[in-house]
Order: sequence, then C-alpha cells, then structure tokens
Amino acid sequence: MKNITNIPYYLKSNDIKPSFQRMKIFDYLYKNKNHPTVEMIYKELSGIIPTLSKTTIYNTLKLFVKKNIVIIVNIEDNETRYDADVSTHGHFKCIKCKEIYDFLFDTENLKIQNLKGFQKDKIDLYIKGICKECLFSG
Ligand SMILES: [Zn+2]
Ligand SMILES: [Zn+2]
Repeated sequence: MKNITNIPYYLKSNDIKPSFQRMKIFDYLYKNKNHPTVEMIYKELSGIIPTLSKTTIYNTLKLFVKKNIVIIVNIEDNETRYDADVSTHGHFKCIKCKEIYDFLFDTENLKIQNLKGFQKDKIDLYIKGICKECLFSG
C-alpha cells in the first residue's frame, strides 16, 4: 500500500479537514492493518481520547469511505471491517483465529468466465478457511 508519512497532509489532499479525532482514527487504521471494526477502534482509542464516541468513529469512517481513502471489508454479513489500504487486494479470513490476511492477486490473469468484454471497475475477493498457523497448531 501507499506509504503515508504525513497524515494531516494526506487527509487534506483528499478534501478532509484533519481534526484530531480523524487523524487518530486514520493513524490507527494505517498503522495496525488489522481490518478493525468500529468496536475495535473504540476499544483502542477511547483510552487516549475520552471524548470519542462510537458514532464519531462510524461517521468518520463513512467520510473516509466516501473520499476513497478507506474501504469496507464485508467478509461476514454481520461484521463491517475497515481498511486504509485501498489498492486492489483480496482478504482471507481464518475461521479459527478470526484473523484477516491480505493477499495480492493478478487482476489480468483472473480466470473469470462469462464476462468477456465487460469493464470490471472493482474486484472484491474474499476467501474463508484456516490459516497456516492454525492448521499447524491443530
Ligand atoms: Zn488462524
Ligand atoms: Zn486489506
């Protein structure tokens, strides 16, 4: 993913006013790369920012998604996760440890049937299974 050294500048260049809370939320997403839920971000940041509410986090993420600097990962129907890596990549969810792993794939050589001649603007690839570590630890 893109190397972002200056978060306030990055937010500003995407037409987002870099408030303290927005910077902290983006910083968390960018540094942790753990595809967190609103709940997870709240747990991590509410200690540092006592005034932070889940609604603020939700609204901030909604704005980030609208401005295309965050994507939604909807690998489970009942769980919305967020990702600051907006480059094309797939997500693997381990059903044992619940960890989400990023993976890369070759969009040119995907063997998609039936869509010859179609323009494909966005490809989401989700895989569920058991990660290597969980397989080895039994
Ligand atoms: Zn696992
Ligand atoms: Zn990802």
